[in-house]
Amino acid sequence: MDRRKFLVGAGLGIIAASAPISISAFGAPTKKTTKSGRLKLSFTPFELKLRHAFNLAKSSRTSTPGVQVKLEYEGVVGYGEASMPPYLGESIASVTKFLSKLDLSQFNDPFKMEEILAYVDGVEAENRSAKASVDIALHDLVGKLIGQPWYKIWGLSLDKIPQSSFTIGIDTPEVVKQKIKEADDYKVIKIKLGLDNDKEMVDIIRQCTDRPICVDANRGWKTKEQALEMCEYLADKNCLFVEQPMMEDKLDDTAWIRERSPLPIIADEVFHRLPDIVKLKDYYDGINIKLMKSTGMSEAYKMITLARAFGMKIMCGCMTETSCAIAAAAQLSPLIDWADLDGNVLIAQDVFDGVKVIDGRVTPSDKPGIGVTPIKGLYPEF
Ligand code: MG
Repeated sequence: MDRRKFLVGAGLGIIAASAPISISAFGAPTKKTTKSGRLKLSFTPFELKLRHAFNLAKSSRTSTPGVQVKLEYEGVVGYGEASMPPYLGESIASVTKFLSKLDLSQFNDPFKMEEILAYVDGVEAENRSAKASVDIALHDLVGKLIGQPWYKIWGLSLDKIPQSSFTIGIDTPEVVKQKIKEADDYKVIKIKLGLDNDKEMVDIIRQCTDRPICVDANRGWKTKEQALEMCEYLADKNCLFVEQPMMEDKLDDTAWIRERSPLPIIADEVFHRLPDIVKLKDYYDGINIKLMKSTGMSEAYKMITLARAFGMKIMCGCMTETSCAIAAAAQLSPLIDWADLDGNVLIAQDVFDGVKVIDGRVTPSDKPGIGVTPIKGLYPEF
């Protein structure tokens, strides 16, 4: 067997290997050792303009601040990004400040991913989307060095990817109808509730489509009785599950709803990092993993493993973000129950190619790493 075939077949084994190996993502293996190379991080702020104003129970906005990231090693570039919706408490200033503190040039072997990511996580607490941007870029880089996409490295099949929902924000009936038309590729509609006109919103959706819906209350329901009444109402409207019915601190109320609700109750705003699963397993049926909360793909993978051990349901969501972070999440999606990976469609201009919606499933490309290609003329120069 030649060396490249062995490397491709070995997959994860290569990551575990300590021998210094380097191969070009686009060419034949080279005899360079990792000692000659160092990781180089670069980044630039990048505001994501939204296609429509995004109206939630507690806020509205027309753009999302973001940061684009590149991680380079011996001429191979991994791409990552941070997206910072305001509720997460990060900003362009905080992300660029955090990334400026990192010294990744101390690492000369990108395959030591656990070590590199533990360093990044330990530089400062919080900063989850900033950490995710490095994690995604590192996965992209290492996948390119191996020559395989991550779903293959993890041994997953694309035919296990669940259908993704498309989010329709709260809006006037005319705009909602227009948005449903734009969501034609998707077989599941996600709606954001938690205001006074929730049933009216569901009626508008049901006038436009009979596709299944999932509901995100975004902490908007005030009492457990109101939340349960909505869950019962929604169960008759072909709804699959309800996300974050009440505020984060209403754990006992949420457990009360969960006990009685005909629909699964999923944790989102209350859920961020791996240890949260242990706390939330007695209050929620499942978790919504988002790379910008989980600090990236590495911890998201661990979350899936742990949540499954507790018998929990798993959805994978996103922020408004480019196809870069969406493609990264799509690598994991054969492992989950529900996908909500429409963030790249909600922005006005994507700067990456790399995911396709096939039969309602957000499917990564078969290119190595996270499988994305920056679009010339749109991807920022830095
Ligand atoms: Mg949510």
